[in-house]
Amino acid sequence: MTNNTTQPRIWPNRSSTFELPRLHCYRCAYEWFPKTLKAPKVCPKCKDTRWDVPRPLPKLVAVKG
Ligand SMILES: [Zn+2]
Repeated sequence: MTNNTTQPRIWPNRSSTFELPRLHCYRCAYEWFPKTLKAPKVCPKCKDTRWDVPRPLPKLVAVKG
C-alpha cells in the first residue's frame, strides 16, 4: 500500500516555513507580499500594469559645461 501524497512544489523552499516571494514595483518602488501565488496584474499602489517590467535605461544626456 502506497500512501504517497505528492504535493506540487511551486516555489523552491529551503526552510520549512512557506513564504511567498516579495514583489517589487519598478515604477513606484513599492514592495509587497502577495496573498496568492499569482502575481497581480497591476501594482497595488500605483496601479501600473507594467510594475514588473524594469524601466529602460535612460538615454545618455550630454552634460553641458
Ligand atoms: Zn507601483
